[in-house]
Amino acid sequence: MDRMRCQAERWGAELFQEDVEFVDVTSRPFTVQSCDRKVSCNSIIVATGATAKRLNLPREEEFWSRGISACAICDGASPLFKGQVLAVVGGGDTATEEAIYLTKYASHVHLLVRKDQLRASRAMQDRVLDNPNVTVHFNTETVDVVSNTKGQLSGILIRRLDTGEESVLEAKGLFYGIGHSPNSQLLEGQVDLDDTGYILAQEGTAKTSTEGVFVAGDVQDHEWRQAVTAAGSGCVAALSVERYLVNNNLLVEFHQPHPEEVKEEVTQGDGKEGFDITLTKHKGQYAVRKLYHESPRLICVLYTAPTCGPCRTLKPILNKVIDEFEQNVHYAEIDIEEDAEIAEAANIMGTPCVQFFKHKEMIRSLSGVKMKKEYREFIEANKNILNSGPPLPSGFII
Ligand SMILES: Cc1cc2nc3c(=O)[nH]c(=O)nc-3n(C[C@H](O)[C@H](O)[C@H](O)COP(=O)(O)OP(=O)(O)OC[C@H]3O[C@@H](n4cnc5c(N)ncnc54)[C@H](O)[C@@H]3O)c2cc1C
Repeated sequence: MDRMRCQAERWGAELFQEDVEFVDVTSRPFTVQSCDRKVSCNSIIVATGATAKRLNLPREEEFWSRGISACAICDGASPLFKGQVLAVVGGGDTATEEAIYLTKYASHVHLLVRKDQLRASRAMQDRVLDNPNVTVHFNTETVDVVSNTKGQLSGILIRRLDTGEESVLEAKGLFYGIGHSPNSQLLEGQVDLDDTGYILAQEGTAKTSTEGVFVAGDVQDHEWRQAVTAAGSGCVAALSVERYLVNNNLLVEFHQPHPEEVKEEVTQGDGKEGFDITLTKHKGQYAVRKLYHESPRLICVLYTAPTCGPCRTLKPILNKVIDEFEQNVHYAEIDIEEDAEIAEAANIMGTPCVQFFKHKEMIRSLSGVKMKKEYREFIEANKNILNSGPPLPSGFII
């Protein structure tokens, strides 16, 4: 991704990692407004993706990516699920496809269907109903998940809708097949959407109902939603934009000065030698321990792993937010492979994870990549409390 980014920049693209909050394509030039800037443009590609729907079970957050998943194709082969009994929720094509797919890895698959029949196509219905490795539970609501003494997901609490009877179905994984919500809210009322909110593209093109607005990826694709289909449609959209701008005499060649060398973040190493508490950004477990005991500021710790793609997305976002609060916050980065001990002490189950500490207590843990404003708002709300807070307790967590 870093190399692709560099390539785009070499050809004149400017990349900003920030949340777009408002888009106006009803007048020209179009307007795109983020939390940090307002941009006018002659053409737009919307590629905001789709978010898997969740059931919002009481323990969903606790087991998300640790037993609960919204993507069988992505996670089904994980060691966590191989040879185990698994469950899928839903009665449509997605759920039935997921159930069939999971039989490749699971010892058995339960399909939990709220209604008394499947919504899936006839062919998919036949495939699940005829498969001896799939048990379909009709009239069955998923109430929650349960765990064993090791804290692992071990079963699904289900309720029969016809009798009200509750029971626990033994399973090591729960997959959601209840659909996706396209992230098309920014364009609502401005371009045509289908009944479920996907942006409508003219068949075989990236064109939307508004001239100059193009669409790519999952936000226009309720069927395939794969990386390669998204990338392919992105290419169609990019070439369409170029053609549109040329045909309408709107093309402005934009030559950027040679991109500046990416500035190395001023980050302290993890050795005792270089630690300087007056600096904001640090790295490694020595620094985290020092900050934990000595910092008068709010502490933000980012846990990453070398192979974690989303970590690479989050780092620049978080770094920018930290820069905004330079003297109010200390920031430290932990590579959970290098500093496994501290990651374990902090109970890190996945990366990226951001934890905030205050008064030697962890006050917030955010898993995954959140919108910039979420980190910003949290820091803003908590940055000054330290000065007026109670004396620091002597015990320590990490
Ligand atoms: C866990 C998981 C595993 C997967 N594994 C595979 C796999 O193995 N193989 C495969 O082919 N596919 C896989 N997929 C599917 C694949 O990731 C998607 O099909 C693909 O990423 C879609 O690309 P996209 O660009 O349309 O959307 P996304 O990749 O979702 O990108 C949309 C981007 O838009 C940003 N965005 C949304 N709203 C705003 C806003 N208001 N302001 C600024 N930015 C915004 C989002 O933050 C996001 O970065 C997986 C999906 C998931 C969830």
